[in-house]
Amino acid sequence: MISEKMKKLVKNSSAIRAMFEDGKKLKAELGEENVYDFSLGNPSILPPSNVKDAMKNVIDSEDEMILHGYMNNAGFEDVRRAVSNSINKKHGTEYTEKNIIMTVGAAGGLNVALKALVDKGDEVIVIAPFFGEYTNYISNVDGVQVTISPDTERFSINFEELESKITPKTRCMIVNSPNNPTGAVYSEEDLKKISDILNKKSQEYGIDIYLITDEPYREIVFDSNVIPFVPSLYKNTIIGYSYAKSLSLPGERIGYLVIPSEIDDFDNVLSAMTCANRILGFVNAPSFMQKVIARVVDETADLSVYERNEKTLYNALTEYGYSIVEPKGTFYMFPKAPIEDDKKFCADAKKYGLVVVPGSSFGCPGYFRIAFCVTEDVVKRSLPAFKKAIDAYKK
Ligand code: PLP
Repeated sequence: MISEKMKKLVKNSSAIRAMFEDGKKLKAELGEENVYDFSLGNPSILPPSNVKDAMKNVIDSEDEMILHGYMNNAGFEDVRRAVSNSINKKHGTEYTEKNIIMTVGAAGGLNVALKALVDKGDEVIVIAPFFGEYTNYISNVDGVQVTISPDTERFSINFEELESKITPKTRCMIVNSPNNPTGAVYSEEDLKKISDILNKKSQEYGIDIYLITDEPYREIVFDSNVIPFVPSLYKNTIIGYSYAKSLSLPGERIGYLVIPSEIDDFDNVLSAMTCANRILGFVNAPSFMQKVIARVVDETADLSVYERNEKTLYNALTEYGYSIVEPKGTFYMFPKAPIEDDKKFCADAKKYGLVVVPGSSFGCPGYFRIAFCVTEDVVKRSLPAFKKAIDAYKK
């Protein structure tokens, strides 16, 4: 028999994965070319060729005993040094290998961070709409999710609500910018406001509130929008990063946490996160991929297709009558559903071969998510289907 807790989690298990399975069924029914699957955030472009070269180089040049062996639970020191040097070059920081823990993707990093910071009953703030897995990660540590309701004007943050929902039990807040599912990018002004609120409340309650910034889409920004470097705006920031999207390596499970020396209780937080990496069963991030990353640390895949897809979809869909806050980054768009019931809209849309995910999966009913990490051809061919899907409700 499985645990009561898992029974619930399995039951609520990711609607997004279910949609992906539906997409496969739909292809069998309607024919592959008539299905436009926008369900999963699986990159559509190849990793840069340097990744393959780096893989070969790792095999040819690394000492096999070291490459395949156990290591410090935080990861190889030379790899963490390469990552810290790369961040220092971009942001003028002075991190060393001591500030970096290599993780099993962003998901691994978030679970490590929460494990280290949250006791049973402690509160973790998330901003709706949010990546649905946060709910599971918070549940993993028996934390209590406190959700800030969506700011549907521009998918930023309801600051007043944030301030009112911080309590003496608040341990951390997760922000995700560029954002899945909306594509929103939080401006420096937004982040400064968060910082002011967290500082004020930390002082009022005499607690440390950590801000975990989940940044797997850091490099996917449009129209030269700038992603502020959050540790320079709020002292108690911990960054979670992944190479899943920037290098198109989601299956390789590789990312890192940045734990700046300036944060409160740095030594204990660092030790706790390193220990959490081990005891959650990761032990360490995949050793082969760590060594690959050290060789391509400043690279990205050619991410330009996502911006082209964004423009094509945004221009066409707004013309058809969809209401959309235009994404500033990522490969997601979060239009308002043409009818109130987002689940019904997504079910109806399948008739036209469209596979999109209801906003309810992200804590924001009434909307739906398009993951446009597909080829430009699929985007272009899908447009008539989006038109039919909205026209169906027009009298
Ligand atoms: N955080 C966000 C916002 C995501 O969208 C994803 C994956 O889609 C993750 C974390 C998990 O990333 P990874 O595959 O690196 O674990």
